[in-house]
Amino acid sequence: MEDCLTGEVPDSRLATLCAKPDGGFSARGAYALATFGGVEAASASFLWSSGAPSRVKFFGWLLSMSRIHTRDVLLRKTILTAAEAECPCCEAGLETADHMIFGCPLAVQFWRCIGLSPGGASVGSLHLFDASPAVGVASPASFVLLCCWRLWKRRNAVVFREDPWSLAATLKACRDDAVLWRARLKEGDRSHIDVWLTVLRTG
Ligand SMILES: [Zn+2]
Repeated sequence: MEDCLTGEVPDSRLATLCAKPDGGFSARGAYALATFGGVEAASASFLWSSGAPSRVKFFGWLLSMSRIHTRDVLLRKTILTAAEAECPCCEAGLETADHMIFGCPLAVQFWRCIGLSPGGASVGSLHLFDASPAVGVASPASFVLLCCWRLWKRRNAVVFREDPWSLAATLKACRDDAVLWRARLKEGDRSHIDVWLTVLRTG
């Protein structure tokens, strides 16, 4: 390593997060660092402990930060013009992540159909959106992620395949995914999928 000099002065290293006040190495600080990676986001357990597939968890994480490519984001990146940034499903106003999941009249129709009220909900507080009025204790967090994922996929079908927005097709896609997710849940939780399927058949 002595042969790999990165500058003219001797290499100096400081363990910022596990240093003693005098700059020495603190074993106690290192242990605290190793056992806790940082400040936990409020939505961390909602997203990462759910039974959803990894790609859906990742989607949920991006969604909670409004980082998915809804048209407002494409407008900000100057990929679209203001005239092209309206919601592709209802064509009323700017498409934002909040609009797509909770504000679009078609999304509202979806949530109401399964017994939930999206009024006042936002993607930034996705972890606070309570699906228990619909599914009780049957893995409500995973259920919310499933619904958001399928609202996004339906929106993409409208944009990229010019499919019509369809409540029945969205509910069916949710049911199809729910069946595939059964094996992902802990054994004791797998009957939760039957509750989901009953709720998703109400449409
Ligand atoms: Zn809309």
